[in-house]
Amino acid sequence: MFNCHVCGSQEAREEQTNEIFQIDDKPVLVEHIPTMVCIRCGEKTFSRETTEQVRLLLHGDTKPVRAISMEVFDFFRSSILGDTIRYA
Ligand SMILES: [Zn+2]
Repeated sequence: MFNCHVCGSQEAREEQTNEIFQIDDKPVLVEHIPTMVCIRCGEKTFSRETTEQVRLLLHGDTKPVRAISMEVFDFFRSSILGDTIRYA
């Protein structure tokens, strides 16, 4: 049975989600991963089997279906910049 490790709720719904994993400093996106989402707090939980399948997918011989370019934001850098502007 589902048991949320964050809030302890036992109610969840099944969803598919996209997750970014960091493989040797290279981000990769895995789409349509089945996950249980806690109804109370929204925490996503992957089953042991799903986690293992993702691991095999990323470290096996499977070729990516497509490549995308991503825009990257740095929260830390932007908050420092914000301080500089505020105190200038
Ligand atoms: Zn929860």
